[in-house]
Parts: sequence; structure tokens; C-alpha cells
Amino acid sequence: QRTPLIAGNWKMNLDHLQAIALVQKLSWGLKDVKHDYSETEVAVFPPFTDLRSVQTLLAADKLSLVLGAQDVSPHESGAYTGDVSAQMLAKLDVHYLLVGHSERRQGHGESDELVGQKALAAHRAGMVPMICVGETAEDLEQHGAAAIPLAQLAAALAPLPQDAEFVIAYEPVWAIGSGQAATPEQAQEVAKAIRESLRELRGDERADATRVLYGGSVSSQNVAGFLRQPDVDGALVGGASLKSDEFTRIIQFKK
Ligand code: 13P
Repeated sequence: QRTPLIAGNWKMNLDHLQAIALVQKLSWGLKDVKHDYSETEVAVFPPFTDLRSVQTLLAADKLSLVLGAQDVSPHESGAYTGDVSAQMLAKLDVHYLLVGHSERRQGHGESDELVGQKALAAHRAGMVPMICVGETAEDLEQHGAAAIPLAQLAAALAPLPQDAEFVIAYEPVWAIGSGQAATPEQAQEVAKAIRESLRELRGDERADATRVLYGGSVSSQNVAGFLRQPDVDGALVGGASLKSDEFTRIIQFKK
């Protein structure tokens, strides 16, 4: 049985003071509704500059939110100006590491190979890579929905040891920030193909245990439809995770 995971990717939003305010409001909101974190896991992915503040707050108030980071260097340490290592992030209690987000693949020219190296760096430091895959509108037209995500998945997993834990986030590029989410059926089709592919690549046990999230214009209005799908185990939320009320409603999705 896979525990649903609702994750908020803040992208390049909120300074560390705003981050503290949001996490406080969010945790109060979740307390008000008596949220059971063991039933639905909740993670936030703040920018690097916010991590230390959020970590301190989570530890001081014993909050059950899980911390994620949005990127990592594939290198361990050394002359890599501007990069942040997996060790540094692990020290900040970062548990999930986003790799392969389409905004990094497109905006920073990240290759499948680099995504795999970053996933490996995260794994080696004891964190869980959250591997993002997804097709563009053009890919969808030319190859259908699943081909590109599956190729990205295989490439990202290649360097990871067989026993490594990871999460997959299926985010169709055309659905990100567009207000035009995939339909639950579209998300299920690709999530199912991802799980079948995991069966081949990693065996039944890993395929059955791995959470596959959907991301792309998720809101409190549409989240339940995704979570009702048998192979969709959560959501990676962008814009809607920046508002504590809306994100709380998303976390409180009813199947
Ligand atoms: P939106 O929810 O803003 O569409 O962003 C999705 C996303 O890219 C999360 O990583």
C-alpha cells in the first residue's frame, strides 16, 4: 500500500521570511483540520535560501512536514561555483530531491544523463530523488503521451543502484502553469505505463512500492480526480502550493 504524497514545489518564489510565514500558516491549517500525516504525506520544496529557516521551524515546532530541495549538484564538493551539494542538503534534513524538472531540462539544458547523475548524488547522500518526467505538447503530438516520459525514466534510473528508493513525478510540460491540467484518465494512462516500465526495470516489489505523482495545474478542484486513479499516488503542486488555504484543501482531498 502506497502512502499518498502531496508535494509543493515553490519554484523561485518566497524569501525566507515569507517561507516561514507560509509553513506556519500551513501547519496551523493542517492542525485545525486534524490532518493525519501518516495517511497523506506532505512535502514542501522551498528555494535553497529558505531551507535553513524552514528546517529550523520544522524542528523547533516538531512539524511533520517533509522537506525537499529543487536541485542538486551531481558533484560531491569542490570548484563548482554556485552549485549546492547533496551533503549540504542532507545536513538540512532535506529528504526529497527534485531532479529533472522540465524547467531545468528546458531552461538549463539538463540532459537525461545529468538528471541521472543528480538522482545518484541525492541517493548517495541518503535522500530520495523525485524524478520528474513529462512530454511537451509537440512530443504528445508526435509520439503520444507515454514514450518520452518512459525514455526519460529509463535514462534517469540507469545510474541508480537496484535497491534505491525514488519517487516519480509525471508532469506533462503543456499542463505546467497553464491552468490546463491533464484529465485524470490521461494521468492514469501514463502513470500506469510508468509502473509497468518500473516492473521491467526494477522488479515487482519496487514497482508496487514506488509512488507516481501527477503534476501540472493541480488545484483543490481537480486533485481528487487524479488521486482516484489506481496508479496516481499523489500530486506535485506548483502555483497552488504558495497559498496555504488552497494547499491545505489540496492536501485534504477526498477520494
Ligand atoms: P503548476 O502547479 O503551477 O502548474 O506547476 C506544476 C509544477 O511544475 C510542479 O513542479
